[in-house]
Amino acid sequence: MKTVIVIGGGITGLSTMYELYKWKKANQSDMRLILAEASAELGGKIRTVKNSGFVIEAGADSIVTRKANTMTFIEELGLQSEVVYNATGRSFIYTEGELKQIPTDAVFGIPASVESLAKSTLVSAEGKVEALKDLYTKNETFTKDDSVGAFLEHFLGKELVEKQIAPVLSGVYSGKLSDLTLASTLPYLLEYKDKYGSIIKGLEANKEKFQIGGERKFLSFRSGLDTLVNAFENKLGDVEILKNTKVSEIEKENNRYKVSFANQEVIEADHVVLSIPHTAAGEILNDKEIIGELVKLKSSSLISVYVGFDVPDSLLPTEGTGFITASNNELSCNACTWTSRKWEHTSESKNLLVRLFYKSSHPAFQALQKMNKEEILQAALSDIKKGLGISAEPITSEITNWSDQMPNYRITHSKSVEAIENKLATAYPGIIIAGCSYYGVGIPDCIENGKNTARKIIALL
Ligand code: FAD
Repeated sequence: MKTVIVIGGGITGLSTMYELYKWKKANQSDMRLILAEASAELGGKIRTVKNSGFVIEAGADSIVTRKANTMTFIEELGLQSEVVYNATGRSFIYTEGELKQIPTDAVFGIPASVESLAKSTLVSAEGKVEALKDLYTKNETFTKDDSVGAFLEHFLGKELVEKQIAPVLSGVYSGKLSDLTLASTLPYLLEYKDKYGSIIKGLEANKEKFQIGGERKFLSFRSGLDTLVNAFENKLGDVEILKNTKVSEIEKENNRYKVSFANQEVIEADHVVLSIPHTAAGEILNDKEIIGELVKLKSSSLISVYVGFDVPDSLLPTEGTGFITASNNELSCNACTWTSRKWEHTSESKNLLVRLFYKSSHPAFQALQKMNKEEILQAALSDIKKGLGISAEPITSEITNWSDQMPNYRITHSKSVEAIENKLATAYPGIIIAGCSYYGVGIPDCIENGKNTARKIIALL
């Protein structure tokens, strides 16, 4: 009898296990399936908290609809009737003491028409003229391995990138644009540049794909995103789910693996999936060469602060769903989502719920990381007062420090991942890495990666 142990019960581990379990059932296999999770709950970076009438997503808050629609997990898990979509609204950049609208006809802040560029209130006339060079400058040197920042600046100019694109894009991909490749962010921009001669024209021609100004860009579930986690868990039949079970070490013994837990228990397995962050993988694999590759992968930190008030969310200063900040010296946060506006299901009584994001890229972050929760809350209340003009007393807050938990796919990312895969395949056949540290951070990417991971194991059985 073969034993497969999946270490890490986040969405990747769950998806891997679900695929393995389906195969086991369909093939009437006697394979033993074990899912080991260090925390008391499955879900990892998906964690829903219910408090004072609010549905609060401490980690991920939604799924990109476009990606989910190309997959079958929602139907397979029977969740169609639970799906809710974001409200459409304007987004702002907080700059020079005020909220300025991000042009609606834009993708990650990149204008998707010349008109959108012309109408922007975020960029000067000179900056707009500079950006027009995109229409007549050919791409002769850039490839997918170049930085997205250098690519955008070359064709659209420094000012547009700094004031309108970088605040949006570096927020989405958690990193400086100069450190992120086109391949790991927006590879299609290169194709557009080549096919349409212009990034702006390429986006314009493909507007439908990005649902610009369209509704239902993101989805979640009526009772919170953990509905997805619970649905996966409920489908896992006779899988042994070990919670509060941290793996401390993996050792190779003959052609099998001895997996040791923090509680001193040991399980022997034929196949091991490491669907845990790469830092955690480094801690349990006793191999200098692999650790040498794992440390090349980088991640950044983020503190998420929710504040709920006993005031109606109609007190918000304008229509819209939130703002990001452009400069580093006005507010301490990088972004603020007006959660109760953006997600109706999160506030039963339409009371105001906002979420502030504090990222390690911000100069204020170092000080914040040393603060206790009460001090962080005070910093958030100060940002809310400056940014939104609201100074009510909060009735609840939820602060989560995602320290080193946001993967940054740097220019060398794919090479490092390949090196780790190769080293594992040679020295530890049967151990497979999976999850957001390596193969994409979005929930749909993780689910897809889980499927592929299960297929790799099935092929080896
Ligand atoms: P994880 O969720 O990190 O799961 C790994 C699991 O392994 C954890 O449960 C951990 O406890 C466990 N573990 C670690 N070490 C051990 C060990 N030694 N033994 C046993 N278990 C161990 N994505 C979106 O698509 N939409 C969003 O809106 C979104 N927002 C985000 C907001 C935040 C604040 C964060 C942090 C992420 C967000 N993401 C979002 C990204 C997405 O949530 C993650 O990429 C995804 O959930 C990662 O899943 P995973 O299973 O690969 O890893």
